[in-house]
Amino acid sequence: MRRKKLSLRLWVGLILLSVTATGQPQTTVKVEPPSWWTGFRNPSLQLMVYGKGISGTIPVINYPGITLEKVEKTSNPDYLFLDLFLSSSVTPGDVSIGFLADGDTVARFLFPLKERKPGSANRKGFSPADVIYLLMPDRFANGDPSNDAVTGMSEKPDRRDPGGRHGGDIKGIADHIGYLQNLGITAVWSTPLLENNMKKYSYHGYAITDYYHIDSRLGSNDDYFALADQLHASGLRLIMDMVFNHCGSNHPWVSDPPDTNWFNEFPAFTRTNYRSAVATDPYASGYDFTLFRKGWFDEHLPDLNQRNPFLAKYFIQHAIWWIEAAGLDGIRLDTYPYCDKDFMAEWDQAVLTEYPSFNIVGECWVTTPGSISYWQKDSPNTDGFNSHLPAVIDFAMYDALRLGFMENEGWSTGTLRLYDILSQDFVYPDPDNLLVFIDNHDVDRYLATQGGNVRHLKMALAFLLTTRGIPQIYYGTEALMTTGEDKSDGNKRADFPGGWPSDSVNAFTGKGLTADQQELSAYMRRLLNWRKNQEVIHRGKLTHFLPVEGIYVYFRSLETKTVMVVLNNNPAEKTIDPTRYDEFLRDVTSAVDVMTGKRFNNPGHITVPAESALILELEKQ
Ligand code: CA
Repeated sequence: MRRKKLSLRLWVGLILLSVTATGQPQTTVKVEPPSWWTGFRNPSLQLMVYGKGISGTIPVINYPGITLEKVEKTSNPDYLFLDLFLSSSVTPGDVSIGFLADGDTVARFLFPLKERKPGSANRKGFSPADVIYLLMPDRFANGDPSNDAVTGMSEKPDRRDPGGRHGGDIKGIADHIGYLQNLGITAVWSTPLLENNMKKYSYHGYAITDYYHIDSRLGSNDDYFALADQLHASGLRLIMDMVFNHCGSNHPWVSDPPDTNWFNEFPAFTRTNYRSAVATDPYASGYDFTLFRKGWFDEHLPDLNQRNPFLAKYFIQHAIWWIEAAGLDGIRLDTYPYCDKDFMAEWDQAVLTEYPSFNIVGECWVTTPGSISYWQKDSPNTDGFNSHLPAVIDFAMYDALRLGFMENEGWSTGTLRLYDILSQDFVYPDPDNLLVFIDNHDVDRYLATQGGNVRHLKMALAFLLTTRGIPQIYYGTEALMTTGEDKSDGNKRADFPGGWPSDSVNAFTGKGLTADQQELSAYMRRLLNWRKNQEVIHRGKLTHFLPVEGIYVYFRSLETKTVMVVLNNNPAEKTIDPTRYDEFLRDVTSAVDVMTGKRFNNPGHITVPAESALILELEKQ
């Protein structure tokens, strides 16, 4: 009940009861964004006003420092777009917006204009100093069983259904911040938390039906803001997952579109071809391109047309609103190449103008460094396109890590795959701003791709946490979560053990974990906590040696500090001949194994067990 009251209070700010001369409420009006702040670099603000027949009214704003510059209408009489100019002298307060019809004020709306938090514009985004923990809130922990089913939200919980709602929520995340901190991760990327009032598959969050409200089954906007504050107080960052390519088919826009070209539409349902490479292919046919960019992701995910200028502004302001309101440290942008790329470039620039040190990572699911690099800011693309997107996801390295340890070493197989991907980093304007990962919510868990081989998982994690880029870890990796025979999406996003009171195994406390699970989670804790303070890993120079006989060696070096990493992708123990690495080892007097703390004095020939990684901090006299 408490939650209901909170959300009702929130709505008071958003809903306007328009009043007739007799004082009777007539219609409701919704304004988005629901509030704003003074002090942004961009003095313009566009309000989307939605209400029955609202375009027949004359809006009036009397507030010092605010000018209503333009009122724009579309063919839909239920929408008005108000272009406001906020002068540098404007002060915070409730801005009264009146709507006149036949000389009477038929409606009035109080729009909150707030003061920004000090230093907000200088917020620093996530960086290679971070390790991102990706979780799906419905599947992580159920901190509040009372919100599992909510009146007015169509899908009810069913934990037995892999594609159903399981009841996890924001409180479940907040309750385990201490666990995450202890694990050693430094940032949380949660899949979308905005309302998905869909009949089914609403758990994943990518079918948004309200861009300004957290789904009430996950919590409230205030719960999300509090989560951000709690994470920050624990030294952790928060990354929000945003979706502009499509919304949920139950979004009010679908039955009552704000403009004629709000959606990309076809005479009959037309699916995208999902081939992101088409977006950058210089030889792409118009047919393939149209299908890729404008085809729908799924029947329940209508494809939004970001070329509509009202929609473009809506999403720019939506992002700035959430960054400012929640104090975000980053954005992960879903299905990036599926959106209009000129819009996305404009959006990136608008966000980074307000927050120059912020970071945004785009999901550009292409698998070669050439295709991926096209999407990174300042890439020297021959078509002149600059995305202005700072970070991209390294799907090329993901493929290499998935395949490499499962193969015999050869001319182009095994660890050479890792070497080969890194050797192409010259195409990236900023290779340190690549998000590296071994699995996420859209693919099989890494362990499943390795036939359950935990040694491979440890090698992959050792590599992920010592190579260049920003590592991302998928929730439950530390508890050896894997995907079995069931390859459905729901199963890739299974419940974290211990997140539900009835769970017999609890990975948060360690209760009921197998020896293997305990060992892997200790391995990760040690490595992650070590990495936190290793500037040599965050920004040190990377030098690698061609893999020979399944041994791949690389170094990270910064000023006087050097870290040596050895991967042994052989089914047998191997001894390393140091002479090959003389340029790094010649003055070394001792080395410390990061994982065991064991010190080697005058390290000579180093022995590495079968299928394992050795991470050594080198010391010189
Ligand atoms: Ca719940």
